[in-house]
Amino acid sequence: MTASRPKSESAFAQAKQVMPGGVNSPVRAFRAVGGSPFFADHGEGPYLYDIDGNRYIDYLLSWGPLIWGHAHPEIVRAVTEAAARGTSFGVPTELETEMAKQVIDLVPSMDVVRMVNSGTEATMSAIRLARAYTGRRYLVKFAGCYHGHADALLVKAGSGVATLGLPDSPGVPQETAQATLTLPYNDEAALRALFAARGEEIAAVIVEPVAGNMGCVPPVPGFLEALREVTRAAGALLIFDEVMTGFRVGLGGAQGRFGIDPDLTTLGKVIGAGLPVGAYGGKRDIMAAVAPEGPVYQAGTLSGNPLAMAGGLTSLRMLAEAAANGLYERLEAYGQRLADAFVAAGKKRGVPVSAHAIGGMFGLFFHGGPIRSADDTSQADKALYAKFFHALLDAGVSLAPSQLEAGFLSAVHTDDDIARTEEAITQAFDRL
Ligand SMILES: *Cc1c(COP(=O)(O)O)cnc(C)c1O
Repeated sequence: MTASRPKSESAFAQAKQVMPGGVNSPVRAFRAVGGSPFFADHGEGPYLYDIDGNRYIDYLLSWGPLIWGHAHPEIVRAVTEAAARGTSFGVPTELETEMAKQVIDLVPSMDVVRMVNSGTEATMSAIRLARAYTGRRYLVKFAGCYHGHADALLVKAGSGVATLGLPDSPGVPQETAQATLTLPYNDEAALRALFAARGEEIAAVIVEPVAGNMGCVPPVPGFLEALREVTRAAGALLIFDEVMTGFRVGLGGAQGRFGIDPDLTTLGKVIGAGLPVGAYGGKRDIMAAVAPEGPVYQAGTLSGNPLAMAGGLTSLRMLAEAAANGLYERLEAYGQRLADAFVAAGKKRGVPVSAHAIGGMFGLFFHGGPIRSADDTSQADKALYAKFFHALLDAGVSLAPSQLEAGFLSAVHTDDDIARTEEAITQAFDRL
């Protein structure tokens, strides 16, 4: 039994007439949890209001970007002031240099950065650059990590460890997929075996340093260190895809938190404060290969867009200040409270559960754990999560509409929001 949302249901029926599946990004259609999506009317702080007049404490936060919650007055002011001066120029602005300086200042490994319009563009560009810089063909990724929808990254593992990749979507050419090798996440032995056999053919390893696209799965101790070591020894580049973790698991992202120095980093989500922004960057000598300084082509009509730069820059400056006052510790403590409430309720009911919380990310799994890889997360109980998700929605709490996605916290969630969510989590188990 789920609450009815007649206006949202009617809006979805109309949307399905004119957009594939009624949405502009597949996971919005609620396929993993059933039912139909609620349509947003507006957001304010940690709350999202649907067109049926319901209010939700929002832990989806537009899939991560909204670390300042919805419609933060300072971000809204920065964006509207920028809009009044012109929405795009096609010539450089000083704002872009300020934004680049701010990003470089916060992300430890980055010397030089290029702005793009999405996380997908960032990873796609970083891979092209890595292949060009090394003159090598193969890319290594990990099963369960998502890096956007570029052909080279829509690849699934073949049978056996580190076989040639197979297309994970019709339309991805076999040859493209075959240039991507897939390994299990958090498996140092498999990584070392692959590099021992083929290290010299590998252009780059791309990794979510804290996985957030198979639910939230932190790296096991030593995994990121091993990645840095084997790539460096083989002359391959290490790309940290921090589109989700950047400015979210800590001010300096996962690399700041774990003290790893990747060659290239990709950013998105939080960097744009809810506007379309991505970025890639890293070591000066590698980035010197990017056009027009070097031969590797990559461009964008709206890249470095003034509205996006104004919103992003304001958000990053606010984060730097808030981090000095314990923001990320507070977010992690809130995430841990939600994780603890989930695990305690599961234990009490005899339902196998496990949970992770790190910085402003958390993951709740209907699986007894430990959860370390896509093999583990794929064993989690999807039907139970679907019931849990709808029970929380009915109680005014919005989680990701799939267990294989992370939960997010914002700087504007209050102690009271967390307490009410703990209660909703506990009560949801009575309805499973
Ligand atoms: C969301 C995400 C992407 C893709 O970003 P888009 O802006 O959706 O294209 C890439 N990598 C990671 C780790 C992500 O979480």
